Order: sequence, then structure tokens, then C-alpha cells
Amino acid sequence: MTNMPLQPVVKPWIDAIAPYVAGRATTTSGAAAAKLSSNENPLGTPDEARAAFAAAAHHLEVYPDAGAAALREAIAAHYGIEADRVIHGTGSDEVLHLVAGSFAGVGDEVLYVRYGFSVYPIAARRVGATPVEAADRDYATDVDALLACVTGRTKVVYVANPNNPTGTYTRREEIARLHAGVPADVMLVIDQAYTEYLDAADDDGALELARAAPNVMVTRTFSKIFGLAAERIGWAYGPAHAIHAMQRIRAPFNVTTAGQHAAIAALGADRFLTESREHNRRWRSWFEEQVDAIPGLRAVPSKANFVLVLFEGQLSAEQAYEGLMAAGFITRWLPGQGLPHALRITIGTEAQMRGVVEALRGMAGG
Ligand code: PMP
Repeated sequence: MTNMPLQPVVKPWIDAIAPYVAGRATTTSGAAAAKLSSNENPLGTPDEARAAFAAAAHHLEVYPDAGAAALREAIAAHYGIEADRVIHGTGSDEVLHLVAGSFAGVGDEVLYVRYGFSVYPIAARRVGATPVEAADRDYATDVDALLACVTGRTKVVYVANPNNPTGTYTRREEIARLHAGVPADVMLVIDQAYTEYLDAADDDGALELARAAPNVMVTRTFSKIFGLAAERIGWAYGPAHAIHAMQRIRAPFNVTTAGQHAAIAALGADRFLTESREHNRRWRSWFEEQVDAIPGLRAVPSKANFVLVLFEGQLSAEQAYEGLMAAGFITRWLPGQGLPHALRITIGTEAQMRGVVEALRGMAGG
């Protein structure tokens, strides 16, 4: 026996967590740079939302509405869903955690696809559950591989659609097939953080599934196309029994007053949202074409507001990451997620995308 002083013991499953790594906001040298590392909206925030946010500054002494009733009503009206089946979170990160917290624990398994969103394993371990990773299919979600990993212990399956960091999209029929294949006591979470960037024809049907099925939940965020990442607002829609369970463990005042008001205003910012979607579509396809024309580089086809670029030639992803940073562009290198050969690059402004391509060409030739 060593003579260690007694101290509180961290749970082994918490010790096993590899912390979340956020996209960098600053360069190594401290020089100014464009942040293309966190999939934020390059067009900023809708004016309506900014005005609603500013108006909330008059009453900072009062707690926010703990139940975010007006926000949940606005979401419900906007999407044609039931407000009492909507839960708001400090970003969709929180609601993703609340699902695991309500449905998984020690001895259970939480399933997701390799190259899935990096919060899923953290959400699993946080509650003592075992994270299980299914194989991908050329960086995309493989429904058969996921179904093959389902066991009697599986309690939650997370699928991001489109997925981060790959940008890949799972079609409606595949989501339906996944749902049909998972047992009824498994909660299937479709994380739609980037769904607003899809063309209308690409609707994956998850919201409809969540309306009808007792085991499907959809999560959404105001951080991406709505331009409110700083305010941390997300939500989930699912079966009443599940949402009510999650409400029990949600922190009471988890979204600020300004955030709630700004989010309501952002829902109605049609022009801004259309412009954002069109800007993204245009520059994403331009960027993918340019990348594919550079020797050794390949763009994974994306439906989101970022592109995963694979470095398969002389130029390594790490070199490109450093070179882009020196050129004034912060991107996301993901060795910790099994992607040492890839950079995830947010679709920024036209000038930024042209600058990134020029820098990549300079490094790789082409
Ligand atoms: N899901 C996915 C797939 C994401 O990429 C992100 C943002 N990185 C989130 C959820 C969480 O976003 P937020 O907490 O800002 O809503």
C-alpha cells in the first residue's frame, strides 16, 4: 500500500474521456486570420436576430424563461411540430448529452459511425456507457455497418445528417431502413445541425419519423445557418416520454434571454437564410471542383457548409494546415479523429475560398 492521501476518485469512465477539441480561433503566430475551423456562417447573423439580442440588454437582472416557452412555441409553429415535444439546450451539444443521460448508463452501448461527430463518444462515456463505432463506407454513414453493431446493450444510436466532419449525407430511404432495423427500445438520434444547407429535395424525413415513432429524436441548432453560435442555442424534437425525461435533467436556465429572443427572430429571417444557403451551395461546389483539380487532393462530396479535403499525394494535411495558417486561414486538422490525412474547411466568403485555393495550389502545385 502506498501512502497516498485520500482524495475524491474520478469515475473511470470520466477518466477515459478524450476532451473535445474546438476549432482554433487564433494562429500560432498571433497574426490575424480567417476562421474556417468551426463551420460558422460567413454572412454573420440576421439583422432581425441582432436587434432582438440587443433589446434584451435592458433586463439583465432577470433570469431567462426556464422553459423557453416562446422559443419552443416559435419552433413548433415554424416546423409544424408540437411545442411540448421540443426541448431547448445550450447548443445542440447539450441535448445530445441529455439523450445519453436519459437512455444510457453503465453496461449500455452507444453507437455511431466512424468519423461521426466527436461529441458522441463523450456523451456516451459521460454516463458510463460504452461507445461503439461502426465502420464507415468511403467516409459516409454505412447503415448496414451500423445495424451489424446493434446488440442487446445498444440504447442510443447517433447519426449526423449531413455528418460532421465528413459532410456526407444519408438519404431518406437509408434513414428509414436504419430506423426499421433498430430495435424499438433503441433511441435513434438524427443530428440535423446542418440540415438547413440541404436542397429541399434532400429532406431525410427524420422530423416526420420523430413525429410518429416512439424511438426517434431529431436535434437542431441555431449555431450554423442561423448565425447564433455565440449564444449557444439548440433543440430536440422527439417522443413526449423521451423529451419529458430529458427535461428533468436539463439545467434550468440553460439558454439566455437574449439568445431565446434572437433565435425566435432568426427563424423568420427568410432572406438571410436563403442567401446563406445559396452562398454556401455556390462556393462549396466551386471549392470542391478546385480542390479536385489539384494533384493529390480530393474533396469528399459535401452537403454541409464545409468540405473534408483528403491529402493523398506529396503534400500532407499537416503541411497544408500549417501553410494555410501562414497564409491567413485557420482550418481543422483532425488527427485525433482518425483523419491525419484530412482537413475540414468551412465554406467562407468568396475572397476566403479563393485565398484558400490559391494557397493550396501554391503548396501542392496544379
Ligand atoms: N452536431 C453536429 C453534427 C455538429 O457539427 C455540431 C457543431 N460542431 C453540433 C451538433 C453542436 O452544435 P451546437 O452545440 O453549437 O448546437
